[in-house]
Amino acid sequence: MPQGQQRLQARRADFPALRQTVHGRPLIYLDHASTSQKPQVVLDRLLSAYVERCGNVHRAVHWLSQAATHDVEAVRDKVRGLLGAPSRDEVIFTRGTTESVNLVAHSLGEQRIGPGDEVIVTTLEHHSNFVPWQVLCQTRGARLIVAPLLPTGQLDLDALGRLLSPRTKLVACTHASNVTGTVVDVRAVCRLAQQVGALTLIDGAQAVPHLPVDVQALGCDFYCFSGHKLLGPWGVGVLWGRSELLATMPPCQTGGGMVSTVRAEMTEFQPPPQRFEAGTPAVAEIIALGAAIDYLHEVGIEAIAQQEAWLLAETLPRLRAVDGLRLLVAEGPQVPVISFVMDGVHPHDLGTALDLEGIAVRAGLHCAEPLFSALGVHGSVRASLSFYNTIEEVDALCAAIRQVSKLLR
Ligand code: PLP
Repeated sequence: MPQGQQRLQARRADFPALRQTVHGRPLIYLDHASTSQKPQVVLDRLLSAYVERCGNVHRAVHWLSQAATHDVEAVRDKVRGLLGAPSRDEVIFTRGTTESVNLVAHSLGEQRIGPGDEVIVTTLEHHSNFVPWQVLCQTRGARLIVAPLLPTGQLDLDALGRLLSPRTKLVACTHASNVTGTVVDVRAVCRLAQQVGALTLIDGAQAVPHLPVDVQALGCDFYCFSGHKLLGPWGVGVLWGRSELLATMPPCQTGGGMVSTVRAEMTEFQPPPQRFEAGTPAVAEIIALGAAIDYLHEVGIEAIAQQEAWLLAETLPRLRAVDGLRLLVAEGPQVPVISFVMDGVHPHDLGTALDLEGIAVRAGLHCAEPLFSALGVHGSVRASLSFYNTIEEVDALCAAIRQVSKLLR
């Protein structure tokens, strides 16, 4: 292993949760796609935000409130930089990807989607980027279309092109699948959508933790991600949207913090981003997300992508060599998320048996039922890796699968 890669692996010492034992075994955490572990700097910042910045934001004149406001707004700048967005005012803090998607579905839906219109999602979507569009279409009399996959497991861009029409109002597409890890050519998706005047929302929940992202280069209209999958805390996420769109969109929730004037006869709303941030935000969590972004930059986003590409390239053949194991991977670029099924063994049984060995993986449908229906598979076990996972941990996973499959099959 080259020296640079050893440097990244040494970073595991920054994650206190990795020092635990589970069922008497050293924890091998391979469930980053569900939620990432948090480095000590993020935990410290979370605590210090509660201790040193416990004032409500955008409100009071006192020092604590001003300091908390300053820190929260500084994170808006960090997110702008992380996504390559043109303006900080395009960054909206939400509770996570799910809330970001719902915000757009409600706000845009009310404004732009009606009977006869169409919304396209893809077979790869997590339920969070599927169900809100389905419900929107049902309530607005629009049609939901699901773009299919190629036999290679990649999104069928030709088929998507044929599904698009002037009736298409929006295309909602994941940047990377939380089941197969396949990275979608979202730039091509956005280009195709633009040709018919459709808007695009990209779900970056599984991409931002692994890849450099530039929303301007992608050419999308909306992009979202969750802080807790990006080494940050729970309860905070991001919606980025193009300013021209956000400026015309109605708020989703109303209340304090998002108004400029309130009278009995009418209320005037703030411009974005405040218009979409009604009520008190997750102050400490936003501040700690800023620490996670700083940490990512310190480790190096390109270095993380390279390390994980190497880890993935080492892991895939090792898993393929396990007798009876079938991998659900697509051709082409992939983040280190690997699903597999074991002949004759229920994924929950395999997942539970691995847990007893101290290995945390996810088992089931991974909130992506339409994809499993398309694949004709009733669930999988999923190992999702991060830059500090070691090849020894992967070997331990393979050995444990071999051992438990003998007992379970
Ligand atoms: N989109 C994808 C691709 C995901 O993997 C997930 C979570 O696993 C979500 C959306 C939902 O994220 P959250 O539960 O943080 O809102």
